Amino acid sequence: MADKHDKVPENAPGKYYIDNTCVPCNDCLEEAPMLLKYTDDESKVYFHRQPQTPEEQICARKAKEICPVEAIGDDGE
Ligand code: SF4
Repeated sequence: MADKHDKVPENAPGKYYIDNTCVPCNDCLEEAPMLLKYTDDESKVYFHRQPQTPEEQICARKAKEICPVEAIGDDGE
């Protein structure tokens, strides 16, 4: 389960975030390419913005479900 106290610092503030257990494997980017980016050193992925539309909410939820290491959380502020 993702830890909101261990977020990748680049995450945009809000409900969704990725924590430092991200591998990164790229799977989530295929589900929500409009919301996610690699950090500059490409060691992690983060939410560069929060989902706005119902469609983006679905993409964010799918990204969370597909992550093999459960690095995506939806209990952020
Ligand atoms: S699916 Fe999980 S481990 Fe893979 S890049 Fe996304 S957040 Fe990182």
